[in-house]
Amino acid sequence: MFRKCTLCQKGELSGKLITRKGQYKAKGGTGSKIARWSKRKFLPNLQKMRIIVEGKLQRAFVCTKCLKKGVVQKACVKVKPSLNNAPKELSL
Ligand SMILES: [Zn+2]
Repeated sequence: MFRKCTLCQKGELSGKLITRKGQYKAKGGTGSKIARWSKRKFLPNLQKMRIIVEGKLQRAFVCTKCLKKGVVQKACVKVKPSLNNAPKELSL
């Protein structure tokens, strides 16, 4: 079984891959027909990362939709050295 998003429980979806044949009527043909179809899976874009849940560090799979919403609190946040935080040796 495929992994799910730990926050929104988003998992895989099943669907059809449809193959058509024939030229479309709009292009001057006699119309397209479905030649065959096969089952396929739609997978969410999951990222493995360390997040903080209820104050505890946890490894989890999180979908990118949840990441974009900003629901996730990441465990490691890199602090960029700004002018105030720069060491004194460099500032001189
Ligand atoms: Zn999610």
